[in-house]
Amino acid sequence: MVDFAQYKINMNKVKIPNKVKYSDYEKNKDLKNYYGLPKQVVFCINCSYSNQKPNSEKEYKHNINTAKPTMDFVDDVCSACRMHKIKKEIDWEERKKELHDLCNKYRKNNGEYDCIVPGSGGKDSFYASYILKNEFKMNPLTVTWSPHIYTDWGFKNFQSWIHSGFDNYLFTPNGKVHRLLTRLAIDNLFHPFQPFIMGQMYFPPKFAYKMNIPLVFYGENPSEYGNKSNNKHTAEKDLSYFTSDINRLDSFISGVQVKDLISNFKLSEVDLEPYFPPDRNLLNNKISIDVRYLGYYLQWHPQECYYYAMEKGNFKPAPERTTGTYSKYSSIDDKIDDFHYYTTFIKFGIGRATYDSSQEIRNDEITREEAKLLIKKFDGEYPERFKNEIFKYLSIDRNDFPIQSPIFEKPIFDEEYFKLLTDKFRSPHIWKRENNNWVLRNSI
Ligand SMILES: [Zn+2]
Repeated sequence: MVDFAQYKINMNKVKIPNKVKYSDYEKNKDLKNYYGLPKQVVFCINCSYSNQKPNSEKEYKHNINTAKPTMDFVDDVCSACRMHKIKKEIDWEERKKELHDLCNKYRKNNGEYDCIVPGSGGKDSFYASYILKNEFKMNPLTVTWSPHIYTDWGFKNFQSWIHSGFDNYLFTPNGKVHRLLTRLAIDNLFHPFQPFIMGQMYFPPKFAYKMNIPLVFYGENPSEYGNKSNNKHTAEKDLSYFTSDINRLDSFISGVQVKDLISNFKLSEVDLEPYFPPDRNLLNNKISIDVRYLGYYLQWHPQECYYYAMEKGNFKPAPERTTGTYSKYSSIDDKIDDFHYYTTFIKFGIGRATYDSSQEIRNDEITREEAKLLIKKFDGEYPERFKNEIFKYLSIDRNDFPIQSPIFEKPIFDEEYFKLLTDKFRSPHIWKRENNNWVLRNSI
């Protein structure tokens, strides 16, 4: 358990955050480390990650008292860099053969789909579906969990993906429920993306089960970059992350226990249905769903996926630089993305430019020195461009939410509220005050 009791949420009311005490951030004090993060900040000597980078976790158990599992460091080298080294030794021709064998096992020639490719129509999902269909002669059905608010260019890319030759199911969750859960997730966890992540993660295997399609293909395995068992490069997705073996009512969504979402926030079980992980036994027993990472079989290179998607699928980069980083082509379809990376910067000191540059260093696209400059320039940039739309989205106004609105001490989400919330989630071991400003204690 993390010493974070002062922030325990009062379930009967969502309160306005208190102003933080600057004295908690003063030097020579026993500085608190929130979320169970390592007290000592260490940077990887090879890339730009620090040891504060969180790993994926079981979201249906995630609440404010959950200690965050963080990236594993050995001799000041992060697990992503160690994994990258391991991958250089892989015989990719051999892996390709393994993929042919797997496809041969599942391929159908009777007019039915034989695999599901989840995605948004970004470069990675485009690459995955295209190569499975054209090179491996599979019959993929693509499925999409809708973004909160599409960017214009994101929606166009999504359309281009379908029009380049794929059937697609788009699932869009109930807009009101999704807004409420997103608001609760930012209030409780400072993680506006959490309900989205849950839906996006659980939808494809549940849908595969319903449609009787036994194979699901994801692209790269993000968790392989953080796992402690760093010499394992695996093809199968770890069941424990996207299925559950606990009672629905005891699980958490947006940091709130489901029973409280039902009793306090007056949501029904069916309102929450898209956010529940599939039952572990169901997926194991009735029909077994095989969930795989294509990144195990094919050498994954984000920039090459981008060129591939542009050439074969009319994919277009965003017309403007993405807030918080220097790139224009990865994860560009949701207007709330800028907020997501801003919150990771506040909680862990790791913003979007750190994520992007770390990967590009490993792929020999930029040097660590260049990364330092890019991080200094862009990391943690305030999410200015879509803020009015997002604040409106996060507001639980009386008109749209007559029942839930009174539960919020401040239902209308505005800049002042966001600032209070931001400060509440700054861990003293990461942040300090300098000349009336917030400054990171440690930077690369
Ligand atoms: Zn590294």
